[in-house]
Amino acid sequence: MKVIRKLATTIFVLFASVTAQAEVDFATCLADLQEQAKSRGMGERSLAALGQAKQLERVIKLDRSQPEFTQTFTDYFNARVTSSRISQGRKLLKTHRPLLEQLSREYGVPPQYLLSFWGMETNFGSYLGKMSTIDALATLACDQRRSAFFTEELFLALDVADQHQLEFSKMQGSWAGAVGHTQFMPSAYHRFGIDGDGDGKVDLWNSIPDALASAANYLSKLGWERELRWGREVTVPDDFPYEESGLGNRKSLQQWQALGVRRTNGQDLGTLDVEAALLVPSGAAGPKFLVYSNFDVIMRWNRSVFYALSVGHLADRINGAGDLVQALPKTRGLSVAEVEAIQTALQQRGFDPGKVDGQLGPATSKAVRAFQLSIGQTADGFASPDLLDLLGISLADSSTPGKR
Ligand code: CA
Repeated sequence: MKVIRKLATTIFVLFASVTAQAEVDFATCLADLQEQAKSRGMGERSLAALGQAKQLERVIKLDRSQPEFTQTFTDYFNARVTSSRISQGRKLLKTHRPLLEQLSREYGVPPQYLLSFWGMETNFGSYLGKMSTIDALATLACDQRRSAFFTEELFLALDVADQHQLEFSKMQGSWAGAVGHTQFMPSAYHRFGIDGDGDGKVDLWNSIPDALASAANYLSKLGWERELRWGREVTVPDDFPYEESGLGNRKSLQQWQALGVRRTNGQDLGTLDVEAALLVPSGAAGPKFLVYSNFDVIMRWNRSVFYALSVGHLADRINGAGDLVQALPKTRGLSVAEVEAIQTALQQRGFDPGKVDGQLGPATSKAVRAFQLSIGQTADGFASPDLLDLLGISLADSSTPGKR
């Protein structure tokens, strides 16, 4: 009993000293940040705000959190391109039409895309995030993992507050520092923020014209091409050579046409002089998409194929288009451990899936495609549960969510 109590006391003291040490470290870091801020010529108000920043344990926890399962395109898409989001987008298209059309003329980004980003990022402003931006960024700046990146974002957040007379206490957003209706990082706010309502400051929280004008400006600067779509859903023939799919392989519309790719209504692809890639995010059994250069622009906003496909399709739906023609298949998502096992097995067979990280990125898709081709299977690059069998992988309990 005595031993246990002693042990408990030791653990408590140890824990308390770890916490105390963390507080000391954070205070030291803040003092150092204040020095850096001074040498950047920042004012008293910014220095005081830095001095009052709090370390948020939850931010570190969220930064470290690793999902156990990968999300399928079906699950990702269904959670974001919802009927309520589409109908709200259509409603807001009417409400904000004059503003959206003016931005479209000025920046070349059509109304439905601005609405789609707005819907994807914050469900049209219904959730902007509640984490104190300065506290979150100070926490991440004082954390080792990505200190340099977040230190710069922190300083830019302070600059933005100064420039646009924002109250620090009202600067709230995501745990990683993204703010406002379209979740801009402070660096994007700083570089691309636009005063859409003409009141002399850029307020991405409280001014919809500011938020949408800034989004239009950002997309324009990222390279949005005025006359082009993002891409479209297409159909392919049964004998389609799936090894031609993937973001890395661009062809002209004529070349895709020659491979049997058509619009979902059966029409020809057209003769527009653009390069396109063919994507099959759920494998050969799911919908197929041809994507153009504006798709890359969406991915410069957020480096995720699922995100970019969802933004593009949601924009079309807001603009009046119907549902996907090809149904989304219901395959289970692989666990991160299964993806790691696939990556390792591919490596052992001489294919290069990139880093063994449990993530289904383009390099892994490419390696899967090469492996499928080598054994005479449909080379769609899709990591399905069947692929585990083909690679001779069996993980205990691998199909039970929550176990690894
Ligand atoms: Ca304004």
